[in-house]
Amino acid sequence: SNDGVATVADGEPPKKYPKGVVLGKDGKPCRSCTSGAAFSAWASQTKSTLKTQASSSVPVSRKDCPPDVEQLGRSSWTLLHSIAATYPTNPTPTEQSDVTNFMKLFAKLYPCWVCAEDFQKYIEKEKIKAGSRNEFGNWLCEAHNAVNRKLGKPTFDCRFWEERWKDGWRD
Ligand code: FAD
Repeated sequence: SNDGVATVADGEPPKKYPKGVVLGKDGKPCRSCTSGAAFSAWASQTKSTLKTQASSSVPVSRKDCPPDVEQLGRSSWTLLHSIAATYPTNPTPTEQSDVTNFMKLFAKLYPCWVCAEDFQKYIEKEKIKAGSRNEFGNWLCEAHNAVNRKLGKPTFDCRFWEERWKDGWRD
């Protein structure tokens, strides 16, 4: 999780990073683990200390790519809830194991490593439920709410997950 403290990789000498910058396992700032604002603060700080050099590898902070932790998160939740929305109401055993394996691999491969570690722990604790669309959609909604709580965001009322992600809001 990102609680506002720069995470320093083991064995690396501590460096000064702006609040909120999360380091990757390589000891360098991890963009997909860090908010856009914190990453930009780091990029401009680094740029100003290196501006006398003719060329540098300091990342230019552009809005479009690569994704920061929020962009990656929004896109990922969109994919996951959309998978739930199209998941069968009465899945076969193969479909159930496919979605379960997918979620486990997703949690392993998620590019924000701090997010990934917490999500893997969540999946260990709250076993994936995939017996029907309703079951999986609700499980995912609760999983998303656990992340919302961790980040201090409002939780979502899971009775409405299908309206948000499948049918559209009723008037
Ligand atoms: P998001 O949380 O991205 O939600 C997108 C939309 O989904 C919302 O606008 C809302 O309409 C809808 N929604 C919200 N809650 C629910 C719900 N419970 N069920 C159904 N729909 C819902 N960021 C970190 O900084 N640290 C972390 O450790 C971290 N872990 C993450 C783990 C995973 C597996 C994922 C996918 C993302 C993680 N993120 C983490 C990113 C974080 O969850 C948000 O995606 C990001 O902060 C952007 O938030 P947002 O407010 O735009 O809305």
